[in-house]
Amino acid sequence: MSIDLAFDREHIWHPYTSMIDPLPVYPVVAAEGCELILENGQRLVDGTASWWSAVHGYRHPVLDQALTEQLSQMAHVMFGGITHPQAVTLCKQLLAITPASLTKVFLADSGSIAVEVAIKMALQYWQGMGNTDKTELISLRKGYHGDTFAAMAVCDPVDSMHSMFARLLPKHHFLPAPTCSYDQEYPAHSTAPLRQLLEQRHSKIAALLLEPIVQGYGGMRFYHPSYLAECRALCDEFDVLLIADEIATGFGRTGSLFACEKATIAADILCLGKALTGGYLTMAATLCTDQVALGVSQSEAGGLMHGPTFMANPLACAVANASVGLIQAGHWQQQVPAIEAQLRAELAACQASPLVKEVRVLGAIGVLEMHQSVDVAKLQQHFVGDGVWIRPFNRLIYLMPPFIISPEQISRLCWSMRRAVLG
Ligand code: PMP
Repeated sequence: MSIDLAFDREHIWHPYTSMIDPLPVYPVVAAEGCELILENGQRLVDGTASWWSAVHGYRHPVLDQALTEQLSQMAHVMFGGITHPQAVTLCKQLLAITPASLTKVFLADSGSIAVEVAIKMALQYWQGMGNTDKTELISLRKGYHGDTFAAMAVCDPVDSMHSMFARLLPKHHFLPAPTCSYDQEYPAHSTAPLRQLLEQRHSKIAALLLEPIVQGYGGMRFYHPSYLAECRALCDEFDVLLIADEIATGFGRTGSLFACEKATIAADILCLGKALTGGYLTMAATLCTDQVALGVSQSEAGGLMHGPTFMANPLACAVANASVGLIQAGHWQQQVPAIEAQLRAELAACQASPLVKEVRVLGAIGVLEMHQSVDVAKLQQHFVGDGVWIRPFNRLIYLMPPFIISPEQISRLCWSMRRAVLG
């Protein structure tokens, strides 16, 4: 049965595109390993891991089996007044691999919801501690935290949907985007704007929310671990919670299991998602400390006011258990540095292109920042023609492939990127 592309174009929304003049879509009928298979049989090397999530590749036998086995038990059951083995196992696993200070887990149904829950936790925490003044958040320019309303309110206020909905969003505070690059010497006073803001306003500030080390969709920027360490120290000094959004960075992507480890810090609230289920099903998690949980539980509501229908979906938990198990087996510790070295070597030539502003690589992330916005449809046609799947946006052409990618497949991705910018 062929895919009805005319129906798709007429009736189905795709992410961030028009319903009248949508960007083209490519019909994918299957995927295996590190390849997507188009309807016409063409195979594309996947440079995206389906937006950071499919770290073990597609149709991984361990993940497939986990889902099949869980299906024979139950696909879903409500989580209100009920628990189940996959949820308990998963939360044990998550607590085992995250800092010891994080002790409580909320299983959310997507990354944006995990961020909403984190914000709710922070606000309810201060209520429960009897401090109802602390209702404002701080985040970073160039940050991205999701598409729902509370999440949009902490995304970059200019380069995001934030500006479109500004009138409807709560007003928070934005620090300048960190300019201290990951691999340059750390400039002193990089966190001076945070100190200044906290000195003036800490009594109103509930939390600082940021993406540790890698700012993803706000610009694919990598900042210095000392910046993150100083943010942690300032949050402690001024009695403000730190929320780390590791939805994109978690589970090895940056070369550390979690990006916070690069600064040897622990957040008070941690958001995980994307690779949590190995890219199989939608699920995310918000972890917090005993202290945060205590405050939330003392708040007027007496508990955390969130409970989605598909909370802790057993299928998602089962595949997450299998995926976290594969992460714990540790192959990523060799795979990610090898990907990093190869991306560095094979993307470096792009720097010679007058179209390219900067080439950046960290862990299994390779970025070409262009001077101008790219023509997404045209570039994608080029990439598909070359047998690769790369999805650029704005001024960025970037790779975050599955960790299981082979050196030959990385070379093909890099070759096609070089051709795109060098001709
Ligand atoms: N936070 C970050 C850092 C993200 O990269 C994303 C997803 N791109 C989100 C939150 C939102 O996750 P989701 O798309 O699953 O809602």
